[in-house]
Amino acid sequence: MGFLDISNLSKSFGATQVVKDFNLSVEKGEFISFLGPSGCGKTTTLRMVAGFEVPSAGTIRIDGRDVVRLRPNQRNIGMVFQSYALFPNLTVADNVGFGLRVAGVPRAGRASRVAEMLAIVGLADFGARYPFQLSGGQQQRVALARALAVRPQVLLLDEPLSALDAKIRVSLREEIRSIQRKLGITTIYVTHDQEEALSMSDRIVVMNNGVADQVAPPFEIYNRPTTRFVASFVGTLNLIEAEVADAAAGRLRLGPDLVDLGRPLPDNRRVTLALRPEALSLAPHGGRDLALAGEIVEVHFLGSVIRIRVQVGDARLSLDTFNSPDSPPPAVGAPATVFLNARDLMVLAD
Ligand code: ATP
Repeated sequence: MGFLDISNLSKSFGATQVVKDFNLSVEKGEFISFLGPSGCGKTTTLRMVAGFEVPSAGTIRIDGRDVVRLRPNQRNIGMVFQSYALFPNLTVADNVGFGLRVAGVPRAGRASRVAEMLAIVGLADFGARYPFQLSGGQQQRVALARALAVRPQVLLLDEPLSALDAKIRVSLREEIRSIQRKLGITTIYVTHDQEEALSMSDRIVVMNNGVADQVAPPFEIYNRPTTRFVASFVGTLNLIEAEVADAAAGRLRLGPDLVDLGRPLPDNRRVTLALRPEALSLAPHGGRDLALAGEIVEVHFLGSVIRIRVQVGDARLSLDTFNSPDSPPPAVGAPATVFLNARDLMVLAD
């Protein structure tokens, strides 16, 4: 049994089931992300853990205690919302100390805990300010300090960085992760941003249509997706249709080439092969074992990276090259050969 255990959790609004038989066991101190497209049920699942939503079925245990019938303030959780939800008429210090005051912590104990929390989020000198005197990023740090001040057993964050601009998002996500590690607090983080989930999490729960499609560490989610949805939602994916020549021998026909995958294939006539952009190159680095002839159809200069799309038969393949000040990007319309290794081809089950 984990520190936070969610079993057979379901939620319906009227006739619509938005969370379906959700199971998850979270270890103490683990950082878990719920990742998925808008409407897949991430927030609803989080809100059931927080106690803002009543499950239609299932159990939620925190540290062995069934919390489903407890109110949010009885669950020993801290929550951070996208909208910060600070009290505008209270100072930063009073915002952070709010939960402690409600819990009846005496003034002196409150003041030292507030100071400790503000130091942790890098706002030691901001206690006397009001929320409107802070930037969005600073307000979200105050919200984090407020959630942590009551020393919750579980920290829940619902898209906490969505309202912030790109640069602040990156620095704040690193900061949240480092604070979470330092405090060793069990955390669930809801996001639709795959880069956030990949960079922050111990494990990611990829949600699709109310179902946890795959639960695994970021490296595995990215490199060994178990469903077509996970493969295409997380990261960029190239898809190539191929004809199965010999399923048992793992041989397939890719355009004019016969390719040996060296592992058995599903017994279909055709399969979809998936490939990350980084598995493709325009040069045969280290003796890649497959070469596909095509034509460059798009070139996007992104700065340090150049994303190139090459039309190979019916497939349009994306790959990245690094910028080099000495050689301009290739031109649209130029012929190109795409090199890859057969072992990097993922075979997607339909
Ligand atoms: P987003 O990233 O857009 O917040 P999400 O994955 O968090 O998406 P949820 O907010 O959990 O998704 O919503 C899941 C589904 O449940 C959506 O179709 C939504 O419209 C529906 N839903 C959520 N709350 C309610 C409610 N109170 N009444 C009816 N339907 C609801």
